[in-house]
Amino acid sequence: MTLRERIDNTLERIEAACARAGRSPSEVTLIAVSKTQPPTAVEEAYNLGIRHFGENKVQELVQKYEGLKGVCTDINWHLIGHLQRNKVKQAIDKAVLIHSVDSLRLGQMIEQEASKKNLVCDVLIQLNIAREDTKFGVAEEELMSLFMELIKLPHLRIRGLMAIAPYVDDPEKNRKYFSKMRQLFIDIKTKNIDNGLTDIYFNPDSFDTLSMGMTGDFEVAVEEGATMVRIGTGIFGERSYSIK
Ligand SMILES: *Cc1c(COP(=O)(O)O)cnc(C)c1O
Repeated sequence: MTLRERIDNTLERIEAACARAGRSPSEVTLIAVSKTQPPTAVEEAYNLGIRHFGENKVQELVQKYEGLKGVCTDINWHLIGHLQRNKVKQAIDKAVLIHSVDSLRLGQMIEQEASKKNLVCDVLIQLNIAREDTKFGVAEEELMSLFMELIKLPHLRIRGLMAIAPYVDDPEKNRKYFSKMRQLFIDIKTKNIDNGLTDIYFNPDSFDTLSMGMTGDFEVAVEEGATMVRIGTGIFGERSYSIK
């Protein structure tokens, strides 16, 4: 399949999943995950209409950001991978959204650097929804306490939740995790945050993003309420880690 066919196919499958769930396709943003792909592949996808791209490494995001900013003027970069605190500075003014905040220490570093640059940084809290040892993300029972600390940081705007579901042969096996994510998302959105507390920087209306679903399971994720899907191989084909 050509890149155009893979993009069309992905968008059609998102639409069909929305139809099954009674949702509008406009509620779902497709993030093309371009990690390991050359900038030319990003440019090609951009010219076919894709505006959101995901990278899991800060260095690669910065390189592509710099290389493409004159060509793809209306591009949105998402940082979807684990963020080390010493890379925060480089990332925050380039990524429109950081999907991977999973500790207060990281949140505080983002706060510090964002405040220096006088910007407010949109972030998601990453959950380790299936409790896998190999994955980053906060455990479900730590979510609320992390959330309550992060909303005290004025240069962070908490936009929602993100998770990477297990690698499975049958996407139905991940339905329970996606459904749990949506439940946690709604719990936070509808929670009445004690306004007796001062200095709370949280607006439930801007808590609007549920980032979940990848090539192998995005249709189930959309059926369960995803508002962003992160698709790599389904769009660009197999990754080649040898090409830089
Ligand atoms: C690589 C990656 C993806 C995309 O994975 P595919 O299976 O190729 O679609 C999505 N999310 C994150 C966090 C990733 O690192």
